[in-house]
Amino acid sequence: MTFPSFGGQGSHWVRKNYNMTNKHLDKSVQTLFLTELFRGMWLTLQYFFRRKVTLNYPFEKGALSPRFRGEHVLRRYPSGEERCIACKLCEAVCPAQAITIEAEARSDGSRRTTRYDIDMTKCIFCGFCQEACPVDAIVEGPNFEYATETHEELIYNKEKLLKNGDRWECEIRENLASESLYR
Ligand code: SF4
Ligand code: SF4
Repeated sequence: MTFPSFGGQGSHWVRKNYNMTNKHLDKSVQTLFLTELFRGMWLTLQYFFRRKVTLNYPFEKGALSPRFRGEHVLRRYPSGEERCIACKLCEAVCPAQAITIEAEARSDGSRRTTRYDIDMTKCIFCGFCQEACPVDAIVEGPNFEYATETHEELIYNKEKLLKNGDRWECEIRENLASESLYR
């Protein structure tokens, strides 16, 4: 619709009043015919038949990338021997200084850790320890469900890390094999 031309301030005033009246009229029509309610219901109906994006955790879990950086593990060779050779590269590279290692030589001359602690509350899950390790001993596994009630429970020792390694070895071996081309 075109407005009658009054020129200057008058024209501006008419246009402003016309817009306000239109706005009020729109709102009244929407209230009277409940259009917003029907639009909302239509939207709900559309989403009702779409594929669900939510998961019923913990009964359903999403897919994890093979590069996922979860809880740390210390791995063994298939013979049961520890992989870690106590080179301390992981300890040196850790930016959070979360790793503490003590080592000594065995009677057969091999070098092994006597202490391997990770303070998981300091760890920033950067993955540098895994990258630095020459024998794939320390790895961030796929486990993300290790919440605890106390700080002490998150200070992992060698025994705990080796136990994690035994538990997750199959998944970790598959993940490392799938990523071997890029490492
Ligand atoms: S993931 Fe990073 S911060 Fe955590 S222990 Fe390894 S190097 Fe340290
Ligand atoms: S976990 Fe790997 S990088 Fe760390 S001390 Fe053992 S062999 Fe060296």
